[in-house]
Amino acid sequence: MKKFVSLALGSVLALAAAAGLASCGKKQNKRCGYNIKAEYLPDTQTLSAEMTANIVNPTDASADELKFQLWPNAFREGAQNKPVSDLYRKAAYYGGESYGGITVTEVGGCASFDVCGEDENILSVKLKSPLGAGKRVSLTFTFDVQLANVNHRLGVTEGGVNLANFYPVLCAVKDGAFCEYLYSANGDPFVNEIADYDVTLTLPASYTLVSGFGAKENEESATEGKKAYHVRADGVRDVAFVFGEDFECLTENADGVEISYYYPAEESDPASVLRAAKESLSFYSETFGGYLYPRYTVVTTGFVYGGMEFPALSMISSGLRQSEIPSVVAHETAHQWWYSMVGSNQYECAWQDEGLAEYSTALFLGAHPDYGVTYRDFISASERSFRAFYSVFSQVNGSADTTMNRPLTSFSGDYEYRNIAYDKGVILFDRVSGAMGERKCKAALKRYFETYKNRIATPEDLIACFERSSAGISELFASFIEGKCVI
Ligand SMILES: [Zn+2]
Repeated sequence: MKKFVSLALGSVLALAAAAGLASCGKKQNKRCGYNIKAEYLPDTQTLSAEMTANIVNPTDASADELKFQLWPNAFREGAQNKPVSDLYRKAAYYGGESYGGITVTEVGGCASFDVCGEDENILSVKLKSPLGAGKRVSLTFTFDVQLANVNHRLGVTEGGVNLANFYPVLCAVKDGAFCEYLYSANGDPFVNEIADYDVTLTLPASYTLVSGFGAKENEESATEGKKAYHVRADGVRDVAFVFGEDFECLTENADGVEISYYYPAEESDPASVLRAAKESLSFYSETFGGYLYPRYTVVTTGFVYGGMEFPALSMISSGLRQSEIPSVVAHETAHQWWYSMVGSNQYECAWQDEGLAEYSTALFLGAHPDYGVTYRDFISASERSFRAFYSVFSQVNGSADTTMNRPLTSFSGDYEYRNIAYDKGVILFDRVSGAMGERKCKAALKRYFETYKNRIATPEDLIACFERSSAGISELFASFIEGKCVI
């Protein structure tokens, strides 16, 4: 995600954290499958859905219970872990207070189910019989999602309907146990293994559906005044959609990838956004390794922060200034490599993908002088921001915690989170590149991509890829992550 954008540069955001997931390197036949049939009803702003999930027990032991994240409940009235901080609340809830949530009415194929967790964020499903490690079970979920009026990942926004993190998704596993992550106004709390998705979405006929994976109109499922779309996405980390009336679209093919940009009719220069998407996708493919999906879509929609990444899809805020757009597009596009293709634990180690997304953006802008920001401009802006943060926090709190491996919920707010994950994150990769040389640094990133694409990499996995190119570089990483270096 790109949270907000500085006046000069187009900002610098990011996260931080640590620890490893136990479930790296699953073979293709061990993927979960989610088959979702849903209809959006605009009058009530609800999504009525049925989902058949083919779940593989991801733990190393027999399980009698599976756990799923219920992300929409963060939008419910009374949620403790709200999706938006007070600072952004007014901009997000454009029409005043508004609430959403998810109601799971039935889970078929299990012994019982229960909404639980610290903040009604977890669906516990007790199985009829123990499920061996790596074995499969099929469960059928019936649920309704209520959408709030909010410019966020999930909501009826001022620019369209954003439909992300809307279905019960299997919790990440760490040390053999399901992680019960809480929504956080800081960063992106979602940690998913790749899975196979088959989604049929029924919408009012007047709507345009924006998807990263291409949508086929399914005429057999359509009823009067409605259209049904079928989306198939195998081996991806998530699926998300945007839909609404009045979207225009520009599409271009580049290096075998269909790149599309969806935008509101009043937008003045859509071609420049498509160009930034195309150039950044091409640059990262060349620098880090080839893009894996057949399509890439950018959409301008209502979103309270700068932008948000999903596999093959980036949401860009309709509130951005023209000058901010290239760096936001470049940042979100970089997440296709760092988050989507190479996964990491964004909840506990946010710097890993945000720092890399920022570093990739700096490299991209440095290689494309037309955008008017040099590599050094970009890094210097982050250094200024971080030093100011350090000074403020040291004075106010007596000290500043600059360790980087921290859960999202441990940050005091947007300011601390942004400076640790994004600013310190990009400075880390700049210093690593300076110490080992840019050529070796890029080779290490290529190795990281090649080794961990379609998996979830720990910080140790990342650092090991750099260590192979430059023995001893892990000490530099450690000094940053442990908060010992001076910037
Ligand atoms: Zn980001």
